[in-house]
Amino acid sequence: MSAEVSALYQEMILDHYRRPRNKGTLENADASVEMKNPLCGDEIGLQVTFDGDAVRDLRFSGRGCSISLASASMMTQLVKGKGRDEIDAIRSQFRDLMLGVASGADESRLGALRALSGVARFPARVKCALLAWNALESALNGHTP
Ligand code: ZN
Repeated sequence: MSAEVSALYQEMILDHYRRPRNKGTLENADASVEMKNPLCGDEIGLQVTFDGDAVRDLRFSGRGCSISLASASMMTQLVKGKGRDEIDAIRSQFRDLMLGVASGADESRLGALRALSGVARFPARVKCALLAWNALESALNGHTP
């Protein structure tokens, strides 16, 4: 990764951390999940409404490190309006990126999440980056369209 890309990614993480997207609560949520990452002290609450098997809308709340909150903010932007299969594919690809496993798949669909690719070099922080995704998985698993 070039220094320019690295600086850009750092800027994207800070931007989502300082101005989180989709932060708050949803009235009449179909699923509500709370999850913690005890290793770092991150906490996240996620509320989702569904439209069939697609995520109609979602909001998150929580506190924690910049990685966990930026990842949650980016995740909410990326999955809104998408169906279960597409979300599963993105999540699995993002997990591969965090674990440093080359999936061979086109990473462009990860969007802003690619800014977190540097986290793979810090195994202790991978759980921070995946916290919001684990919460989303739990919300999806509890939902039967
Ligand atoms: Zn953290």
